[in-house]
Amino acid sequence: MSRVPPLLLPLLALCACSQTPQFIARDEPWRADEERACLSSGVVHESPFVELRSALGGPSVCGAIKPLSVSAAANGWVQLQPPALVRCPMVPAIDHWVERTVMPAARRHFRSPLVALKIAGSYSCRPMNNVDGALLSEHGHANAIDVSGFVLVDGRTVSVKNGWWGAFAERNFLREVHHGGCAVFSTVLGPNYDANHKDHFHLDLGRHGHDGADTICK
Ligand SMILES: [Zn+2]
Repeated sequence: MSRVPPLLLPLLALCACSQTPQFIARDEPWRADEERACLSSGVVHESPFVELRSALGGPSVCGAIKPLSVSAAANGWVQLQPPALVRCPMVPAIDHWVERTVMPAARRHFRSPLVALKIAGSYSCRPMNNVDGALLSEHGHANAIDVSGFVLVDGRTVSVKNGWWGAFAERNFLREVHHGGCAVFSTVLGPNYDANHKDHFHLDLGRHGHDGADTICK
């Protein structure tokens, strides 16, 4: 006779089968609906810096219908280093944030144009924070990017790790671009959120709250 509480059984079954962290995935029809609407809207065009990928090779629910490899934002003016693998709705969101917030903030705080974002992560089929048995991360849906630094035309890199508590201009710049991200993305996490985010901003388009319209900005 088993003494294991019934609720624990699925989790134990997940953890016993592999060395890699396992995740739980919800049935979320809005994801495919949203991606198809984005693809058919024409808002994203293929270009030398936005390329269609046929598949991401992720098992089960990971990946996207038509993943895109994005090597630059803002019409090619700001490189993504390395290119980010994302689903369609992330492309205009990244462009919007870079053009409306990050580029103007770089000019204002450093009097230097922005030329690149340092991408610390994009698509990855894994649980949230790599915790075994957690929900599938937005990264697993190609619906998130991690940005660790901002490269200026004079060669300087403003990193989240050193700049968040760094010089006055760097602190102000990083707080402004973090805050500006909250007007575009539904989740923005930085060093104030937890130790996992001390060296990057996590930006995604997940849905929060009963109607899916809540924003998490920390
Ligand atoms: Zn992330």
